[in-house]
Formats: sequence, structure tokens, C-alpha cells
Amino acid sequence: MTAPRLEIDLNKIYHNARTLVDRLADRGISVTGVTKATLGSPEIASALIRAGVTALGDSRIENIEAMRRAHVPASMTLIRSPMISQAERVVTHADVSLNTELDVISRLSFAAKEARRTHGVVLMVELGDLREGIMPGDLENTVRETLRFPNIVLRGIGTNLACRSGVSPDAKNMAELSALADSIDATFGSTLSIVSGGNSGNLTWALSGEDTGRINDLRLGEAILLGRETLHRQPIDGLHTDAITLIAEVVESKAKPSLPWGEIAQTAFGEQPPSIDRGLISQTILAIGQQDTDPCGLHARPGITILGASSDHLIVDSGGGCLCMGAEMTFQLNYSALVRAMTSPFVAKVVNRLIPV
Ligand SMILES: *Cc1c(COP(=O)(O)O)cnc(C)c1O
Repeated sequence: MTAPRLEIDLNKIYHNARTLVDRLADRGISVTGVTKATLGSPEIASALIRAGVTALGDSRIENIEAMRRAHVPASMTLIRSPMISQAERVVTHADVSLNTELDVISRLSFAAKEARRTHGVVLMVELGDLREGIMPGDLENTVRETLRFPNIVLRGIGTNLACRSGVSPDAKNMAELSALADSIDATFGSTLSIVSGGNSGNLTWALSGEDTGRINDLRLGEAILLGRETLHRQPIDGLHTDAITLIAEVVESKAKPSLPWGEIAQTAFGEQPPSIDRGLISQTILAIGQQDTDPCGLHARPGITILGASSDHLIVDSGGGCLCMGAEMTFQLNYSALVRAMTSPFVAKVVNRLIPV
């Protein structure tokens, strides 16, 4: 089979999504399945829908358009603040978008009016992680302005933590989001239908048994695809951590010294050259590199040590003996390695079929 390739087990992804959907349903929380790490794969999106997610979320309008072209039947949310230059595409293909800037919402309103559509808006609130979000003190005003725009429907509020700064979702910041939802409803006589608490980093809090207040939605990507929570990257009980694996092919395998020789200057990617002398090792080269994935995010099976990578070569110590040319090696991936492999045209994607349930 062709290499390098990602092997994607839809049954495991379905199982992970279904398990999280069920566990969160007990807490009154629905799941928006996030597809951005999959390049908007219609097959993965369909598995998520079968598993019971209530909507799909993606950060790129291109991915949402791809899922639309494939007739994936779901409400779609653009989860990165829309670019003004893409306003027409956003209102045409996304049902909802996450927003923080009135100028952007104004353009969405204009584009929606032109297209004779309505567009849903979820206002994101800054609760300390310092990525996107309206400062809590400015929320009421932003809601007031948003409600004035024609063809825009305020669907809810949300927040994003555990991302840029690793701020943990906890009883305090989640209670603050709930209180903001209550206060908006009281002031404007409305009911915000979506209160979106966050991403995979919220699972520990959401499933802890604590009162979930007004939070009724989480946007989950990594936990479904890789089976881990994202605060400490621990496996989630009952989920598969190997739903997606990366396979690469051996193109050289020789006994070589572990230390380079000659005058040492910079490496191709500015990394430290090898500095520990471990004598002769079985150095194996796989035909995959920085152009295809994040080598730092790969995890090999026990006995194999990843030593370094350049654009097209991954160098490992293959332990015991040398390997045959054409032999394949399987790696587990973290999120960074997964995103890059998914978006590389050099990495084939092999999707097994979903077994009907
Ligand atoms: C990426 C993203 C998510 C999903 O994050 P995971 O850690 O993959 O669950 C949710 N919300 C927003 C705004 C995002 O950008």
C-alpha cells in the first residue's frame, strides 16, 4: 500500500464520539463535533453525525464548503471569527459563526441580507485564556448592538479556554459564563439557546459531577479523534487512542555512529545536532518529514526512538537490528502531527468503512 499514509478507523471515531455524546447528554450538554483537524473529511463528519453530535464546527470556511459539497447533513458552525473578506461565503455555507467584532457581524448582516438568508451568531467571551473573546464587561453592549442587525440571529454565547494559555475550565470560570447568560437573558428578555462552554479541555470539568449550570454545548475535536482530554493529555476512559495512525516506509537502515563528525554548524531546521555518544546504533530513515507532519508529535512503538527529522526524512534508532527496505513503521500522533499529516498532499488517507450499527 502507498506510504506515508494515515489509517483512519471510522468505527473507533464513531465509538469515541458516541461515548462522549452519551456521557455529556447525562449532564445536559450536547456536542458540536469539530472537524478542522480532518480537513473537513465528509466521511469523518458523517460518522460524527451518526454518533449523535448536534452540529459540526470547523475553523475554515473551505472545510465547511467541502462538507456542503459532499451533502453532509448538519448544521455547520464556523468556529473561528469570520474574515470580512469571506463574509459572503460564510453566510452562504455556515449556519452559525462564533464572533467577537461588531464590524464583522455588520458585514455578515449585510451579506446575509443580500443573500436573503439569516445567519446565527454566537458571541465569544474572554474568560482568561487570551485568545478570542469579548471582555465580559463589554458583552451586554455587544449583545445590544448585535440584536439590531437585520438578518442576524443571536444564538448564544460561548468561551474558549485551555488553548492559547492553557487556562483550565473550572467551577469559577464556567459559573461566570452561566451568570453572563442569565444576565443577558434578564436584560433582553430573551433565552440564549446555546451556551458553549469550550473544547476538549472542558471534559474533565463537564464530567466531574459538578453543577454544569447553563452550559449546554461543548465543541469537541481532539477528544473524539485522539481519545484524550487536553489539559494533561491523559487517555479518556473507554475511548480509543489509536483511531488514527500514521504509517511510513523505510528507505535506509544501517549501523552508524550516534555522533556526527566534522565541523558542526546549523542543522536544516535549527535543531540541536546529536550530542550523546551511544556508540553504533541501528539508524533507520523513514520517508516522511517536516513537510508531512510534526515529527515532535509522533510516538513510535516501544524499542524505537525518534532521533530527528528534516523536510523529507525521519531518523529513528530502530533498536535491535536493521530493517528491510520497504518495511513499514506505525506511529501514534498528537494533535499537531495529525493536523499537518491531514493537510499534507503527500500523505494518503485510508479510511476504513463504518460498520452499520
Ligand atoms: C479547535 C477549536 C475547538 C475544538 O478544540 P479541541 O481541543 O480539538 O476539542 C473548539 N472551539 C474552538 C473555538 C476551536 O478553535
